Amino acid sequence: MTYETFCGGIFETNCYLVEAPEGWMLFDAPDGACNWLESRHVDVKLLLLTHGHFDHVPDAAKIKRLFNCQIGCHPQTEPMISDPEFFRGFGFELEIEPVKPDLLIEETPAREFLGLEMNVLEVPGHCPGSLCFFSRKDELLIGGDVLFASGVGRWDLPGGDADLLFAGIRKKIFSLGDNVTVLPGHGPPTKIGTERRTNPFLV
Ligand SMILES: [Zn+2]
Ligand SMILES: [Zn+2]
Repeated sequence: MTYETFCGGIFETNCYLVEAPEGWMLFDAPDGACNWLESRHVDVKLLLLTHGHFDHVPDAAKIKRLFNCQIGCHPQTEPMISDPEFFRGFGFELEIEPVKPDLLIEETPAREFLGLEMNVLEVPGHCPGSLCFFSRKDELLIGGDVLFASGVGRWDLPGGDADLLFAGIRKKIFSLGDNVTVLPGHGPPTKIGTERRTNPFLV
């Protein structure tokens, strides 16, 4: 599976463009992602969201409008992207253009997205409804803000829970195997084995 990375917005949020058998799909939609896709001249058919934090979703509505693509996310992500008041309830003064998901995704051992079979893991603790998308064939995990190179997602935001986060990483992520490459929501790619051995939050 080939993929390309774009990093956008003030939080330097990564998104990943993946070529699936039936077309291109994008994981997450940070600021600038839509312009980047336009410049790449690809036709995006599906946008999957790892979680609903405002740095991962601001271009979602724009991308859906431009490409007429479907959006998939966890049921708990839906209010974060469709209700403009959601984050204001937490005291954040930001506004993103609201958008409705077309498909709701929950944890499942195998689900096809544009002909690409993925194991979908739900790993909350950084954000409720946080999803990691794993391709066993490619040994590739699109992980969102769960596990980073030498770091983990912060757990002090609304709905965060350190116990859930660390248990999820150890049980669901580490068990995928040391050779798996993690494409995280921030920072460079890493390997699960590297993080299992050297991540200061997890050793
Ligand atoms: Zn996040
Ligand atoms: Zn993030």
